[in-house]
Amino acid sequence: MTAMLKRSLTEDAQDVFRAIALIELGARMQVLESELTLSRDRMIRLYREVKGVSPPKGMLPFSADWYMTWLANIHASLFYNTYLFLKNEARCSHLDALTKGYRLYLEHCRHSETEPVLDLTRAWTLVRFFDADILQLTPCCRCGGKFVAHKHDLQQNVVCGACQPPSRAGKTKKAAAAAKQEVPTIAEAA
Ligand SMILES: [Zn+2]
Repeated sequence: MTAMLKRSLTEDAQDVFRAIALIELGARMQVLESELTLSRDRMIRLYREVKGVSPPKGMLPFSADWYMTWLANIHASLFYNTYLFLKNEARCSHLDALTKGYRLYLEHCRHSETEPVLDLTRAWTLVRFFDADILQLTPCCRCGGKFVAHKHDLQQNVVCGACQPPSRAGKTKKAAAAAKQEVPTIAEAA
């Protein structure tokens, strides 16, 4: 019991609030476990309370290649530019930048009447790939926005997915245009 009292009540309460916010946004257990210091049992109980169901089991299935498909790349780039702005310019902590950035991303999808492609766990995994130097931001030579790319991909004279949609992407062109509007604004602010 005494070991559990090492952390202050305030710190503990803050972690509970953070856990609730992450669960509401759709985080999987792996995200909670790596971001917060609450016991696994408590996080499972919080998860059940917030979601009304047990957390899904199993590994996170994502690879860095997922972010390279056309539409996922536009959404990932929008989220990551927002995340970086919040972290570097607005001086948010990693966790605040993740939750606030993800909420802004959802808001942006709602405004532009686009289905969100990136879930919270994928957004979190994206940040991990950047931290692990697996991904980088590459400037688009047409719009100047920065998009998500593999670490060793070309850095010059490359065009982002929003500027160069695949020919069969007609239906989602509107979504791309809407996402594109936002990216340079954020990039300029940064
Ligand atoms: Zn572009």
